[in-house]
Amino acid sequence: MSRKPPNIIVVVLDCVRAKSLRLWGGDSPAQTPQLDALARRGTTFRRAVAPANWTVPSHWSMMTGAYPAVHGMRLAGQGSSPRESIAAELGRAGYETALFSEQEFLLAGLGLESGYSLKVGPATGAGAITEDHAPHRSSLRGTDRLYSDWALRILGSVPPLMVPFTAFDYRVQTAYKRRICGDEIPQRLGAWLRTRDSSRPFHAFLNFVDAHEPYLSSSDSEPLRFLPRWYARTPRNFLLLLPGLRARTPWTALVKEYHRAISSADRKVGLLMEALTESHEIENTALIITSDHGQAFGEDGTVFHGNGATDAVTRVPLLVVPPEGHSHPETIDRWTSLCEVPAWVRGFVYGNFEVGAPPQRAGSDAQDHLPQGTVYCEGSPASDFGKLLRGRRPGERWNHRLLAAYHGNEKWTLDQDTGEVAHWEVNGWADDSVPGTPLEGAAARSVRGAIFAPYEKLQVGPKASTLDALAMEAAVAERLRSWGYD
Ligand SMILES: [Zn+2]
Repeated sequence: MSRKPPNIIVVVLDCVRAKSLRLWGGDSPAQTPQLDALARRGTTFRRAVAPANWTVPSHWSMMTGAYPAVHGMRLAGQGSSPRESIAAELGRAGYETALFSEQEFLLAGLGLESGYSLKVGPATGAGAITEDHAPHRSSLRGTDRLYSDWALRILGSVPPLMVPFTAFDYRVQTAYKRRICGDEIPQRLGAWLRTRDSSRPFHAFLNFVDAHEPYLSSSDSEPLRFLPRWYARTPRNFLLLLPGLRARTPWTALVKEYHRAISSADRKVGLLMEALTESHEIENTALIITSDHGQAFGEDGTVFHGNGATDAVTRVPLLVVPPEGHSHPETIDRWTSLCEVPAWVRGFVYGNFEVGAPPQRAGSDAQDHLPQGTVYCEGSPASDFGKLLRGRRPGERWNHRLLAAYHGNEKWTLDQDTGEVAHWEVNGWADDSVPGTPLEGAAARSVRGAIFAPYEKLQVGPKASTLDALAMEAAVAERLRSWGYD
């Protein structure tokens, strides 16, 4: 009996790192009952690595299967990847394609949304920025002035001076986050599932941003003294630029709030499952649940994401739940890049797919010549398209172009600015609290030649234009900057 090809849903829990989840062995992990239940029905990939440390390049990779070195879309520039997205391919194959995203980057006209016939963002998002954002616009102009050398010198020597700015910024950011992270997107997704023409298979791509900073305190938040509480709310770039502030930030308390935010993303996965059950689609749906990058809380000087290549940022959760009746292993322990996602989607659609099988190599693709079993993550400060971090704190690793590679029980980073190669042994995780052992001489040369050179040779993609060169709606650009992408 031939049945309808399976529906394919990709869920990105933006900013959720693997090490904060029980399934990936996190200590005092976030409560994620929905993910835990799904793991019992699917395959847990225990060594999944994001292709880049921030949203835009990582989504391009998930949607096209190409590493950032190939698609070249590292910045928030408009353009099209040299490879077609899986959504466009599925659309041609007769699938209905839909994008439901709380994350504005996916709906900002960068090209990421182009393969989807239905695009749904929060009603209060991009298209509907209203007058009440006006004070925020002026606060952003203030931000630029706060980046001047003299301002940073003063803020660095008297950190409490940062508090009034942080207080204003935090109020605006949290108001925005409350508006976009409610139940609107899962509800609209549910309504769509219940009313669409179910004779046609669908592909939906979802992004929930609950785990993105800023973090909202709740009644059971740890009581913090006045200054630490405000230091925990400082915008990312200032935590990067002012090591004094970083040293005073109560990271442990912040991680607890982050874990609460992960639980709220997990709850939305539950709403999705309810909607799939109600619309009788659940049995014929393949689910891929992951994140586009992790989130760091001071590890090796890295803050949130978009900087550094610590495991906190590079390693992401990854669950694959096949349609009912499809066999699958419980866990997969090989290194897995999110670049594999489009191949899996194709595999589910055309029915020739073994969950967890290593990627097939025909030899015709540039990436087929990367060393077998090795995965990469670009850890450049690439989200700094306003160049506000450029040239600042040049000694700190978070501000270097780092390329991370994992193979077997080893992790290396190549600092593309200095040529330095560092090595970690991976015992479950590479230790984020140490900068890695520098390799010298022949050892460095051999890792560079065998591991990094094949990736560096891939540099074939176009260079996306930077944000300031964009025709993107000004209000959207400002909103993106306010999230720290400045
Ligand atoms: Zn992201």
